[in-house]
Amino acid sequence: MSIFITRIHELAEIKAELAERDWFMGTSGNLSIKIQNNPLQFLVTASGKDKRKSTNEDFLIVDKDGRPVGETNVKPSAETLLHCEIYERSNAGCSLHVHTVANNVVSELYGDEGKVVFKGQELIKAFGRWEEDAEWEVPIIDNYAEIPRLAAALAPYVKADQGAVLIRNHGITVWGKDGFEAKKVLEACEFLFEYHLALLQAKANLQAIKQL
Ligand SMILES: [Zn+2]
Repeated sequence: MSIFITRIHELAEIKAELAERDWFMGTSGNLSIKIQNNPLQFLVTASGKDKRKSTNEDFLIVDKDGRPVGETNVKPSAETLLHCEIYERSNAGCSLHVHTVANNVVSELYGDEGKVVFKGQELIKAFGRWEEDAEWEVPIIDNYAEIPRLAAALAPYVKADQGAVLIRNHGITVWGKDGFEAKKVLEACEFLFEYHLALLQAKANLQAIKQL
């Protein structure tokens, strides 16, 4: 099987799994997977599609500037430049971007601090951090409607081949050396966000009960 077919199947599978989690509300979210370096080419989700459905036009190939390679009837996701930035600045092989309620709420809660830090959580091991007191920091950048500006804001945080950045009141972008790693980072981040919000809620409820 050609690398192109292998990668398209891989990305379609990730898309189906994330769709099952309902992480593509209102056609939001975009996914990409690298096909080759020199020149860089990667598969990215087409713009404006309902990603819970599978069609023959779900993905297209783009170059390092996010321009379609070859003839296609579809347009790349409006946020393709975020993916370009990641492949340009790291050896990542896959990048995933989703909008969820949990990642939006966490990004707003800690947006002024510019980051959210997790520690003492077993799941931090998903990021390759095995120390007992390991911390996992997710930077939070401001959201800009203009995508080149947003991509420029993301750029300084793409420092390793695996990572995650929250975009305030918008969503999360993660990347990893391949599809498996990128999905693992995304799932671990979303677990930590949901856990954190559930913990805050439980603490508030407990406080309210104590005051009765
Ligand atoms: Zn987005």
